[in-house]
Amino acid sequence: MFWHRESSGRVEVAFTDRSDGHSKGPFSSLNLSSASGDDPAVVVRNHSALAEALSVDGLHSMAQVHGADVAYADLMRVDGPGTVPVCDAVITDQIGIPLLVRVADCVPVLLADVDALLVGAAHAGRVGLVGGVVPAVVDALRDRGATSLRAWVGPRAGGCCYEVPELMADEVDRAVPGTRSTTTWGTPSLDVGAGVVKQLADLGVDVSDLGADTCTIEDEQLFSYRRQGTASGRFGGVVVLR
Ligand SMILES: [Zn+2]
Repeated sequence: MFWHRESSGRVEVAFTDRSDGHSKGPFSSLNLSSASGDDPAVVVRNHSALAEALSVDGLHSMAQVHGADVAYADLMRVDGPGTVPVCDAVITDQIGIPLLVRVADCVPVLLADVDALLVGAAHAGRVGLVGGVVPAVVDALRDRGATSLRAWVGPRAGGCCYEVPELMADEVDRAVPGTRSTTTWGTPSLDVGAGVVKQLADLGVDVSDLGADTCTIEDEQLFSYRRQGTASGRFGGVVVLR
């Protein structure tokens, strides 16, 4: 179930893998999203299994749209039609509201100020990276009093495999220098994770790049949109204040 899990003071962060869920076929088994065609009732069971493993009452979800809007979670909003905020980052200072970001190749980012008791989660794909979701969530946390931010960056598609047209690689690298990369077969690619880490570091955030050596397109323990196509599940990152 857990690809990584750790606690720091009253903050717990976790990234999931595909194991220990209830979904079948390409969604096997701990798929956290019904957006790609998995049975919504089974996805609810997967959310419940993850919540139970984390000893929390539920998971606060986002309807992610590759934007840069940041929501503030003042109460639990579990997944369901029209129930969750449309955004790509969410923050809270509330105890016991676990913030969930769902990905399959995009970059999951969890943030916390362990002393100020503020946490955040963000979804940063290629579009979100260029759109500024990372500085937006850092700003939102600092506006609420964060002074010493840490970030945990999870597994995502690596520059080794995330092939893109040359013009796109150039365009993204102009927006966020350091993102242009080359696939193992020698064609232009993007290392979106490197861009996210650079943005965080430039903003003075202390970054743990947990996913640096993992590529979702290659690692079958994780869901990958590039590898599996539209019928891909989503794994997750969760951060919660205890
Ligand atoms: Zn790769």
